[in-house]
Amino acid sequence: MLKRRTIQLLIGLSIYVMVAYYSISLVYLLLFGGLLGIIFGNVFCRWMCPIGYIIESMMKLSKNNEMAASYQYRKIGCPISWINGYFNRMSLFKIKIDHGKCIDCGKCDDVCYITNLNKEYSLYNEGKSDPAVHPKCSKCMDCITVCPTDSLTFSK
Ligand code: SF4
Ligand code: SF4
Repeated sequence: MLKRRTIQLLIGLSIYVMVAYYSISLVYLLLFGGLLGIIFGNVFCRWMCPIGYIIESMMKLSKNNEMAASYQYRKIGCPISWINGYFNRMSLFKIKIDHGKCIDCGKCDDVCYITNLNKEYSLYNEGKSDPAVHPKCSKCMDCITVCPTDSLTFSK
């Protein structure tokens, strides 16, 4: 978790410097974000975006988990998020489950804002839809972090 936030801060600062001081066009940023989506899915917001870092920090300070979940799920303002989200279903790397290791504890669903807001989604229940390919999955990796049996992986 801390690792993700650290990476998000470092990459976010680099992007800010590139755009603000070296006048790198936002078109390049859009293309870069889109390409990343093909490989990793919707990783830009939670791992790279400087604005995402600031908003997530504000959400943490407010300690309002419901608002934070709702923000991640409903945000509509960023075109990079739209493009990346579209690729979640077909990206090279995906969140996968090894059902042989899963003990059905449900911890992954407890931390996922998609399963919390949509009861027809589940990371481990095979009768439900997979939230990790939902366009709103921001690859926060919280589901992977909490899994006690390492059943979930982000892999090719
Ligand atoms: S990475 Fe996991 S916990 Fe985070 S939104 Fe996607 S499915 Fe949910
Ligand atoms: S947290 Fe891991 S073990 Fe528990 S239900 Fe999810 S995938 Fe299965």
